[in-house]
Amino acid sequence: MPRQCNICQTARAIIRRPKTGQRICKECFFYVFETEIHHTIVDNRLFKPGDRIGIGASGGKDSTVLAYVMKTLNERYNYGLELFLLSVDEGISGYRDDSLETVKRNQQQYDLPLKIVSYEQLYGWSMDSIVETVGRKNNCTFCGVFRRQALDRGALMLDLDHIVTGHNADDIAETILMNILRGDIPRLSRCTEIATMGDGYIGRSKPFKYAYEKEIVMYAYLKRLDYFSTECTYSPNAYRGYARQFLKDLEAVRPSAIIDIIYSGEAMKVAENVKLPTMTSCERCGYISSNSICKACVLLEGLERGVPKMGIAKASSKQIEQDAPEVARRGKAVEPVHFEKLREKALNIRKQRMLNAATSSCSKDTALCECTGDSCQ
Ligand SMILES: [Zn+2]
Ligand SMILES: [Zn+2]
Repeated sequence: MPRQCNICQTARAIIRRPKTGQRICKECFFYVFETEIHHTIVDNRLFKPGDRIGIGASGGKDSTVLAYVMKTLNERYNYGLELFLLSVDEGISGYRDDSLETVKRNQQQYDLPLKIVSYEQLYGWSMDSIVETVGRKNNCTFCGVFRRQALDRGALMLDLDHIVTGHNADDIAETILMNILRGDIPRLSRCTEIATMGDGYIGRSKPFKYAYEKEIVMYAYLKRLDYFSTECTYSPNAYRGYARQFLKDLEAVRPSAIIDIIYSGEAMKVAENVKLPTMTSCERCGYISSNSICKACVLLEGLERGVPKMGIAKASSKQIEQDAPEVARRGKAVEPVHFEKLREKALNIRKQRMLNAATSSCSKDTALCECTGDSCQ
């Protein structure tokens, strides 16, 4: 006999919800999934009405579902957000070029403006040329460091207030495990935060912090969303791979393990005698950094000087330079635009925007309104 949905008690249950084990119907699944994200957004006050939000879009399942859900919730609850798709082209042929085609289709499907920034254009080095120079072993370090900056650069060009990324509960639980296994306490204390202020100008958050990867896949499948599912062609991060497998094994035995690890990470308090890095700005490019020269600038310099191990290996740069074999350089650096310049430009546009907004008053019916008293009538 067909089972009834645990939630609505009318429709036939067609799925077993990975997060809770409930047997529910398709419509109820969509509703609970979307509503949980809505609560994450509202409870954590991620946005303000009028905010310009960039959705970090890679064409993969997480960011495609994120774009779809952000658009849906923005309309349903009248958040009053301006949404944009923001993509990074790392320059990985056979992978990113194909996934960007998906993003371009999403742009049409969801009717959202799209901005693509590329490593080639920002740094003068595509990932293909980096891998040709450094090999496959450490290339993920370059990619991760460059991506973070590239998103911030793109966000400043678009005058965004905030970037949302598709990191899901599994990703966060994995990161917590990895930081514990490495004893990386500064990162451990940061990785559970749902929202960060970055360099103080553009916020960043993870609306899917409590969303299970399995449910995101299920949602994308049942909604028939158009996404790209190939893994990156360059070597995956091996250490993360172990943490991922471990987490999957735990989830198979006890599905709540993922959320429980996140709760544990959130509740952990860093002892007072642990030294946390102090943040400053990079002397060269102005990006937020815990050293006088940021990691991206160090990596770029290493590439330029033919000593790509700089910034990766623990040895001194002098030693690395002495030991370095001759490597053919495949990229050609461009001077990255200084962050101060980008910020100044964005600040001017933002000022004008605030002036325009001040003349139009808040309409009370947005779910994100925080106005009190007279200003919101
Ligand atoms: Zn139902
Ligand atoms: Zn820098």
